[in-house]
Amino acid sequence: MSTGKINVTADNIFPIIKKFLYSDHEIFLRELVSNAVDATQKLKTLSRIGESDAELGDLTIQVKLDKENKTLTISDRGIGMSPEEVDKYINQLAFSGAEEFVKKYDDKADGAAIIGHFGLGFYSSFMVAKKVEIFSRSHKADQPGSYWSCEGNPEFELSESDVRSDRGTDIVLHINDDSTEFLEESRISELLKKYCRFLPVAIQFGEKEITETEGEGDDKKETKKTVADIVNVTDPAWTKAPADLENEDYKAFYRQLYPFTFEEPLFHIHLNVDYPFDLNGILFFPRIKPNMDLQRNKIQLYQNQVFVTDNLEGIVPDFLTLLHGVIDSKDIPLNVSRSYLQADGAVKKISGHITKKVADKLSSLYKKDRADFESKWNDIKMIIEYGMLSDEKFFDKAQKFALYQSVDDSYFTFEEYIDKIKETQKDKDGNLVVLYAAHKEGQHGYIKKAQNKGYDVLLMDGPLVSHLMQKLEGGDEKVRFARVDSDSIEKLIPKDEEQVSLLSEEQKEKLKPIIEEQVDKATYTVVMESLDSSEAPFTITVPEFMRRMKEMQATGGGGMMGMGDMPDMYNLVVNTNNPLITKIMDEKDEAQRNALIKRGKDLALLAQNLLHGEELTNFVEEQFSRLN
Ligand code: ADP
Repeated sequence: MSTGKINVTADNIFPIIKKFLYSDHEIFLRELVSNAVDATQKLKTLSRIGESDAELGDLTIQVKLDKENKTLTISDRGIGMSPEEVDKYINQLAFSGAEEFVKKYDDKADGAAIIGHFGLGFYSSFMVAKKVEIFSRSHKADQPGSYWSCEGNPEFELSESDVRSDRGTDIVLHINDDSTEFLEESRISELLKKYCRFLPVAIQFGEKEITETEGEGDDKKETKKTVADIVNVTDPAWTKAPADLENEDYKAFYRQLYPFTFEEPLFHIHLNVDYPFDLNGILFFPRIKPNMDLQRNKIQLYQNQVFVTDNLEGIVPDFLTLLHGVIDSKDIPLNVSRSYLQADGAVKKISGHITKKVADKLSSLYKKDRADFESKWNDIKMIIEYGMLSDEKFFDKAQKFALYQSVDDSYFTFEEYIDKIKETQKDKDGNLVVLYAAHKEGQHGYIKKAQNKGYDVLLMDGPLVSHLMQKLEGGDEKVRFARVDSDSIEKLIPKDEEQVSLLSEEQKEKLKPIIEEQVDKATYTVVMESLDSSEAPFTITVPEFMRRMKEMQATGGGGMMGMGDMPDMYNLVVNTNNPLITKIMDEKDEAQRNALIKRGKDLALLAQNLLHGEELTNFVEEQFSRLN
């Protein structure tokens, strides 16, 4: 037996381990199980290349709780360690690099930075254990077994021991009194599911009961059996080559990943790179409906099948955090803080690569089967539009496959659409005017008017369209977007036609204040216009600029502070060429005249879904009374 001092000259690392890593205590389990997996994989490699003649046998890693003795044990049947190796790997090597770090930072650094600087690995067990024991036996038959123990101070004990009689290693943690949560089965189970779910070696945590059925009908026999409860899937889909997987395999993997999600993903993107960086993974496009709660923590980041985090903020572009799936890279540092990850060069390259892959996949889906792409468009457009707004390179690519839906459900790329309207929807200044509606039903009357004039109307809905339109208007084409209710139909796309007016300017001037008196001036601006006599006498319009600025501010950005709080502003357009307006002009009875104005205005509000509350009640009552 030998005793000694663990090789850290900056006297004691243990208080630092305990002090700084509080929030991340649970990662000790990930570290220990990862070590067990590494030891097993090393043995498999040695055996394969003929450098170990050990019988591999059952290589399952065991995690066991002993509540009575307050221990948690992680056992593997990997390469094991002789006493000499324990001395080398546990006493000396584990702290290489630590000494300098501790000297430099002592108690200034935060916990994440410490684990970021050197793999704390095995020693993270002292965050939760007052004493740790190792029982091990090397795969080399001629080596003695070993025993090591340490009570969370630089003193350790190391001896030869036969306690572990077969090849492999037991790590026994004597859980300390303020970490008893790690003696709870449910807590350990949760952690194994979180960090170890896709590790490449089977991990058993306890046993479970299953029911086996034999025979049919009357002969049917059910037997209950106790079997090992394996917590992980050792060969998740992303570790396989895309050529070896069918569509069904991807769906099955999706269900493995999200057992509580019933929606199926729309399609997947298999990432498979080994040069110039290592990246594997499968991303899924979920259905995203406008107004749905956005979930941003559905992508899981792994390093060599070890779970790192499901918060990918700053690691992949923001718009891609809405995707689901898994990213696995050996090049992503495991034990580091978020800020460190975000600044990491490999992570940046990976992020750029993923964006490109997503764009390429979308482009190929679009080219391969346009009808299918169109049918999915409304479920994917939010992510694509978000990407177009946040990433210039993605915008350029997406311009070729991003779709615009007309109110009669045809889909166009932007280029196709511009081509479609360039003859009919050019205004007198040479701008192409794209007319759009936000609601097919709610703006029905306005859509119909535009269509009657031979114009096409797009459906632009979702939280990002006002930003997107702003961006498209800034492009090369002279394009302007106008919502169908933003102006009277003749002014939506102003042409060089002279308007004939039935009323003289003088008459208009006289009528305007009379109408203004009947409306709430804070909300409605009365505009006198000479439109086609068949156009409605009164129409409510919502000026494009103010409305869009307000919308943009509501969804972030868009300039003009405080716009979001502004009240809605409407125009009440009076068509002075409509016979009703002449009738109002000529009406001598003041009460009668005001009643006409009021009813006309109410109808205009009704057509815009703006007649509410008392006004609506009065209007309906009046209409009923007229039926008598
Ligand atoms: P790291 O795993 O980053 O090298 P650790 O402190 O976790 O650092 O482990 C130090 C070394 O101890 C490992 O590199 C390995 O050689 C050895 N070791 C740890 N756990 C085991 C184990 N279960 N079986 C065999 N060797 C182990």
